[in-house]
Amino acid sequence: MITIIGAGPAGSYLAYLLAKNGKEVTLIEEHEKIGMPVQCTGIVTSSIEKFIKLPAKVIANKLSNVIAVSKNNKVQIETEEIVMWRNRFDEFLAEIACDAGAKILLSHQFCDFNGKNSIIVKDKKNSRIKKITSNIFVGADGPSSAVAKAFSLCSNTNFYIGMQAKVRLKMDINSFETYFGSDFPNFFGWVVPESEDTARLGLASLKNVKNAKEFFYNFLEKRTGKKEILCWESGIIPIYNPEQIIQKDNIYLIGDAASQVKATTGGGIIPSLKAAHTLYDCIINNKSYSKELKKNVGRELLLHLKIRNMLNKFSDEDYDYLLRLMSQEKIKKILKKYDRDTPMPLVLNLLLKEPRFLLFSKFF
Ligand SMILES: Cc1cc2nc3c(=O)[nH]c(=O)nc-3n(C[C@H](O)[C@H](O)[C@H](O)COP(=O)(O)OP(=O)(O)OC[C@H]3O[C@@H](n4cnc5c(N)ncnc54)[C@H](O)[C@@H]3O)c2cc1C
Repeated sequence: MITIIGAGPAGSYLAYLLAKNGKEVTLIEEHEKIGMPVQCTGIVTSSIEKFIKLPAKVIANKLSNVIAVSKNNKVQIETEEIVMWRNRFDEFLAEIACDAGAKILLSHQFCDFNGKNSIIVKDKKNSRIKKITSNIFVGADGPSSAVAKAFSLCSNTNFYIGMQAKVRLKMDINSFETYFGSDFPNFFGWVVPESEDTARLGLASLKNVKNAKEFFYNFLEKRTGKKEILCWESGIIPIYNPEQIIQKDNIYLIGDAASQVKATTGGGIIPSLKAAHTLYDCIINNKSYSKELKKNVGRELLLHLKIRNMLNKFSDEDYDYLLRLMSQEKIKKILKKYDRDTPMPLVLNLLLKEPRFLLFSKFF
């Protein structure tokens, strides 16, 4: 018996893989409705289809370009991205997990461990406390993981605050925009069209940036001409922490609970599916999850972290220069061929085609 805490993408996808393989799986989700509240832009590269074929109901929009903007420069690059209805994506993964045989307990909140093979959960509908016994427990309970806390698996993970809102905006429905430079300290801003007249606009900042809201509203006003929002979809984004302990005895962590997020973009959906796949393989074939993760997803996440640390030292002029290098046709071709979910060949090919990228190595 395997108990997974959290029916987000990481937990439900792992439940699906294990149940399909004949394992007895229970998913525990504290909310009454899966996928709510939405705290995500829902943009993924088409690499997601290497893991799961998305049904049409999950897809809000498909994008074929990204427009990167710095203080004095702008470049348009061809890409293949999918904008998902994040709540429907989570629902879809939970549905396929259920169809494969997993049991889902909604409105059930993990509270604490109760010895080696038992946990305490609260049924939020009637406030009853229950004990659940299991051979394996997986914490897939997001960035503020109660499982990590209860089992002392917390490390000093740092977080971005992702401030995002839905706004009325008419823009090119085939392109999303990213903004870099001193108006977006230590991260970037984004505008992603979900429909003809609605976009998801946001930026992220480190916890200690005091005037983060001011940066957000300045960006909102500059891009939309007003300060109106339709609704907030904000949340916290863990920054990948290679020191995070992800396995202890029969307890495992995946997804945001294990800080498995690309530090360059804050994207955690595809890394959480990759990590779920690795953990599934380790459970089925009795391998060490910590070791296996380091070999594949961990290496990619470390590369993203190094690039993020480098970008955080960039001035406006450095971003202008980066975009100038990226506007070359030979570079655009590579950026189209390799997406950010295959970072090793992407970086290697960029360096081979344009050695001037190495000038940025002074920031490592
Ligand atoms: C503003 C913002 C924008 C983002 N945009 C993108 C994007 O465009 N693309 C992308 O790839 N990533 C994006 N991310 C990151 C992405 O949302 C996460 O990486 C992803 O949701 C991680 O999935 P998860 O399953 O690990 O965690 P979660 O999605 O957080 O799921 C955890 C689940 O556990 C449940 N839970 C929590 N505690 C308990 C408990 N005690 N008991 C029971 N259940 C519990 C929660 O209710 C939730 O359902 C964004 C994040 C933010 C904040």
